[in-house]
Amino acid sequence: MNAISKPSRGAYRIVDHTYDVVVVGAGGAGLRATFGMGAAGLKTACITKVFPTRSHTVAAQGGVGAALGNMGEDDWRWHMYDTVKGSDWLGDQDAIEYMCREAIPAVIELEHYGVPFSRTEDGRIYQRPFGGHMQHYGKTPAMRACAAADRTGHAILHTLYQQSLKHGCEFFVEYFALDLIMDDEGVCRGVTAWCLEDGSIHRFRAQTVVMATGGYGRAYLSCTSAHTCTGDGNAMVLRAGLPLQDQEFVQFHPTGIYGAGCLITEGARGEGGYLTNSEGERFMERYAPTAKDLASRDVVSRAMSVEIREGRGVGPHKDHILLHLEHLGAELLHERLPGISETAKIFAGVDVTKEPIPILPTVHYNMGGIPTNIHTEVLRPTKDNEDAVVPGLMAVGEAACVSVHGANRLGTNSLLDLVVFGRAAAHRASETIKPGASQAPLPANAGERDLDRFDRIRHAKGGTPTAELRVQMQRAMQTHAAVFRDSASLKEGVEKMRKIWGGMGDLKVGDRGLIWNSDLMEALELDNLLGNAMTTIVSADARKESRGAHAQEDFPERDDENWMKHTLAWCDGEGNVRLDYRGVKMRTLTNEVQVFPPKARVY
Ligand SMILES: Cc1cc2nc3c(=O)[nH]c(=O)nc-3n(C[C@H](O)[C@H](O)[C@H](O)COP(=O)(O)OP(=O)(O)OC[C@H]3O[C@@H](n4cnc5c(N)ncnc54)[C@H](O)[C@@H]3O)c2cc1C
Repeated sequence: MNAISKPSRGAYRIVDHTYDVVVVGAGGAGLRATFGMGAAGLKTACITKVFPTRSHTVAAQGGVGAALGNMGEDDWRWHMYDTVKGSDWLGDQDAIEYMCREAIPAVIELEHYGVPFSRTEDGRIYQRPFGGHMQHYGKTPAMRACAAADRTGHAILHTLYQQSLKHGCEFFVEYFALDLIMDDEGVCRGVTAWCLEDGSIHRFRAQTVVMATGGYGRAYLSCTSAHTCTGDGNAMVLRAGLPLQDQEFVQFHPTGIYGAGCLITEGARGEGGYLTNSEGERFMERYAPTAKDLASRDVVSRAMSVEIREGRGVGPHKDHILLHLEHLGAELLHERLPGISETAKIFAGVDVTKEPIPILPTVHYNMGGIPTNIHTEVLRPTKDNEDAVVPGLMAVGEAACVSVHGANRLGTNSLLDLVVFGRAAAHRASETIKPGASQAPLPANAGERDLDRFDRIRHAKGGTPTAELRVQMQRAMQTHAAVFRDSASLKEGVEKMRKIWGGMGDLKVGDRGLIWNSDLMEALELDNLLGNAMTTIVSADARKESRGAHAQEDFPERDDENWMKHTLAWCDGEGNVRLDYRGVKMRTLTNEVQVFPPKARVY
């Protein structure tokens, strides 16, 4: 390591580092980028607030999408069509083309790196059906989700970590990244971080910083995401004066366990599971005659919500739905769905071989995030150039919005996004930066602003504990920016969020220490979540149509004429959000496929 200790600033010991690349985040996206950079000869550091293999990617269950065609006919163009349709025509078609075409080499590469995929009889990668993935442009379900039982994320994450170690990348584990270091020209020059173990503050200087900090599911009360999913990277980007894109699109997964929120993979329906209401009816046949239980997630979540609303929910409060797997037989459940069988036992007390699982739509994924181009370079759209980039800054994974998922992500397309664009980041960096190139000194005041914020929160002397303010935010988001939204409720939600934001002025942090101060860390995370939540609800309030995961009851139709555009949201330190819009890319990169013009989205 090349750390240089600097004279301390007040109570802080400051340590400086220089790397070619610094990746923030060690989930699937961060690790794929990290080892790709390392393999390209770039001196690469990866900073992560949890041990790499504890990142949320480890929890991914069902599979990674690629049209390998191992178990029936498939074509990456069908995958592309499904993704464009799944996105409700808000995805950028050039990015989707790139992802679906590159899926095939990227997944085969994963196999060669050592991911222990489940196998077909003849030894190829096992593939299962998943929601919204079809053959022949939407005709019949495709077997496209490459799976390692129901622990695909676990298998991928461990393999990528091993590859990163093999390529000599350096890890800063349990370092909490605070903010980007930007210079006066708007170039990203590095990032600051707090070492949780010894309390020191670190300034990482780099030719390129890659944000791979994951989603912000924890802005909601009930979500499948880990407690670490607090949108820290998105908030750092907002504080750097840059916008987030399409924050109003939040995915609810149809099958979170009722009460606990833990995920039962869509792979369970891929293997033949189905939903019923209180009358024992397989109601999805009414809502999606072709795809039925395997329609895309927004469609299934809405159908479930309508069933409950119309009095056909299950249980004493008629407030949930049942997922049946018992007909699949103990042998198949044991072989293909062992993880969720255990989860159902622990969190719902259900033996899946005998009884159905009580389930409810639960927040699962953030389609929005840091806008990038297909090379993962972060965008700073201006009036003259909506594709202008921020030099020195990249973003990948759930934190980023490329945008391949548009208004609704298809299952298996996130793990795919991580590996395809993690890899793309490494390709781009190897073209644009030279190993060991000299870097100008950091601006004299680098990190000062970050430490001011850190100090302010660390010494917060108010009367409201972090947990209290956090649950207010989570309740407001769960109530007002939910599966169904309407104008009055969104307005009320925005007002509530303003008050909650104001509540930060009365924040109480009890522990002033610097070592393993989880009280302070949670307060910093809450501050980050607020920026994400505020941009989400303000962007949702502004979008007067229904598209993908944004179902606005006063505007039930998709309105391509006025709203086929990406939302950009800036947020200042007072919680004021400014919105603007940029066009959806209706173009392809090659002539191997045509653009898919918008049409009605039926399953
Ligand atoms: C239960 C569950 C099951 C899923 N199943 C599937 C599936 O089968 N198929 C699929 O395609 N998708 C699935 N998804 C979605 C997919 O797993 C996630 O979108 C994806 O794993 C996100 O990966 P990531 O690398 O972007 O972020 P994460 O894996 O969340 O990693 C974020 C990283 O950033 C670091 N970090 C964050 N903030 C800071 C900070 N301030 N300082 C330092 N480090 C920081 C964390 O330590 C972590 O290493 C699932 C999601 C969930 C929640």
